[in-house]
Amino acid sequence: EVMLALEGVSKTYNKGREAEVRVLQDVDLQVRKGEMVALVAPSGAGKSTLLHIAGLLDTPDAGTVSIGGVDFTGLSDRRRTIARRREVGFVYQFHHLLPEFTAEENIVLPQLANGMPKAEARLRAEELLARVGIGERAGHRPSAMSGGEQQRVAFCRALANEPRLLLADEPTGNLDPATSERVFEALVGLVRDTGLSALIATHNLELAARMDRVVKLDQGQVVAG
Ligand code: ADP
Ligand code: ADP
Repeated sequence: EVMLALEGVSKTYNKGREAEVRVLQDVDLQVRKGEMVALVAPSGAGKSTLLHIAGLLDTPDAGTVSIGGVDFTGLSDRRRTIARRREVGFVYQFHHLLPEFTAEENIVLPQLANGMPKAEARLRAEELLARVGIGERAGHRPSAMSGGEQQRVAFCRALANEPRLLLADEPTGNLDPATSERVFEALVGLVRDTGLSALIATHNLELAARMDRVVKLDQGQVVAG
């Protein structure tokens, strides 16, 4: 069963202008249900562009993007936004947590926005924090936490609304190697526990090798890694 499918996806910035950049050219990529795929590429190769298109944040110039067998390519911005909130969790290199809220509140808020009752949202936040090993940090604000802890909270927030697809852009890229290793393990554990499908961009080949499959972005195309 295919969870994410990109078919013939192309993207060019500044088309027809001097600054034209052809980033993606006829990209085909599939991520199956429960599969973790690493996306490896040098900086500037188009990883963020590919993840944004896969996560319905950006539209391709050509080609189709399907999540859970549904082709979202032709839908309005509003309908794609609704689909994105339901289907996709995002993690970035920087955590983007709300500084004035605690770890738990940062995970509760997207659930409330999604119509979840507060008591259930809090319970789910606590469960997620416990699963990534920082249950005792629930009441701390991001500024009182280490970089690795902040990133674990960001993982929990991404999974708060039970998406079917996780997209991560260098999720441990800001951390020192030892922390990166442990935080990455926490992410893998979380994804495996929930049976999520994940596409994770990373420069770290050792971490990439622990996933089910590695693909590379090379000259605008996705090839086996
Ligand atoms: P990566 O995430 O692999 O570093 P990006 O997808 O961010 O790569 O960028 C790929 C290329 O497209 C880079 O040359 C970048 O400068 C360019 N680019 C990215 N976004 C835009 C944009 N909105 N407008 C113009 N060029 C862009
Ligand atoms: P990342 O660290 O995820 O690769 P970047 O710093 O490359 O992100 O880009 C941050 C934002 O700026 C993204 O939304 C990207 O699309 C946009 N961007 C990147 N390169 C360019 C560019 N050359 N011109 C305009 N926007 C760009």
